[in-house]
Amino acid sequence: MSKRDYYEVLGVDRSAGAEEIKKAYRKIAFENHPDRNPGNKEAEARFKEAAEAYDVLRDNEKRAHYDRFGHSDFGAGFGGFSNEDIFSQFGDIFENLFGFGGGGSRSQNRPTVGDDLRYNLKITFRQAAKGDDVRLTIPRTASCPDCGGTGAAKDSKQEQCTQCKGMGQVFVQQGPFRFASTCPKCHGKGTTVSKPCPRCKGDGHIQEKRELTVHIPAGVYDGARLRLRGEGEAGTNGGPNGDLYVVIHIEADKVFDREGQNLIYSTKIPFTKAALGAKIKVPTLDEEIEFEVPKGTQSGAIYQVKGKGLPYPGEKRTGDLLIEVIVETPTDLSADQTELLKALDTLFEKKEQKLSTKIKNKIKEIIS
Ligand SMILES: [Zn+2]
Ligand SMILES: [Zn+2]
Repeated sequence: MSKRDYYEVLGVDRSAGAEEIKKAYRKIAFENHPDRNPGNKEAEARFKEAAEAYDVLRDNEKRAHYDRFGHSDFGAGFGGFSNEDIFSQFGDIFENLFGFGGGGSRSQNRPTVGDDLRYNLKITFRQAAKGDDVRLTIPRTASCPDCGGTGAAKDSKQEQCTQCKGMGQVFVQQGPFRFASTCPKCHGKGTTVSKPCPRCKGDGHIQEKRELTVHIPAGVYDGARLRLRGEGEAGTNGGPNGDLYVVIHIEADKVFDREGQNLIYSTKIPFTKAALGAKIKVPTLDEEIEFEVPKGTQSGAIYQVKGKGLPYPGEKRTGDLLIEVIVETPTDLSADQTELLKALDTLFEKKEQKLSTKIKNKIKEIIS
């Protein structure tokens, strides 16, 4: 099922201002609020859809991101989305519309967003580099499908709670003070059901194992939190589900190190090749490439191959491959190698002179 455009959901123009967006959202939220439409799944869906659209369009940064990338990129790989729930963040609006917070059973009955869940996902370096779709099984609470989360069996009736007489609150006397607390029998609803739903035993929630696929964007950072909207715990009283946060943990790689979106490949070459220059094979994420180490390379030199690093999530840029060259000094020279190096050493010491005939002959003898 494809998601509707947020502007379409709120029925506003793409150029609509903050006030207009707020107005449009209020209207939809008011008409479709679960309190006004008990048990109406369509209204609930419209309510949640509008809340989600408003959550994005009210925030300039999120709105700009949505305008650029649409739904496809939304909520994946971009940290910094704060974890707020619809009802607390839009509290000002609901306060005005419904008089929430006014005490009595009403406020106890308000829809509450479900808890957020966190899932730690370990992925390989290659999965992080290339992106992947990973199947997850998430244990969570869900709204009971048999009773639609009401906790009541089909032929059950709503009855006034006998303990609080429909108030949703009970009063406890402590010395000269009277304290109000949520009714333990009806949990503040003010009503109880005559026959609890057999599947959820009146709780309105069931435990389920939800299978879902999380998309890992290519180039994802270690520790990134991917937000899957509505995949958290079920809400209560028609409130929306919480979100699921998948926290990415990237395993180290045998071949590459990583620095931001740059890949680092470290390699050793013999000092002769460092002095003379050499073509070496270098792995990249896709294929092996040939790289020319320039002559006169010093140990610890770093060479850059543009665009062979990791992509920046949600951007067109790609990091670079950095080749670190370590020059190796031999420790186990053979007699012949020692002879040659001595000759070379002599040459370095007497820069202007030519090799003596004796040494030339010796070299010829060795390399023939
Ligand atoms: Zn009660
Ligand atoms: Zn049930």
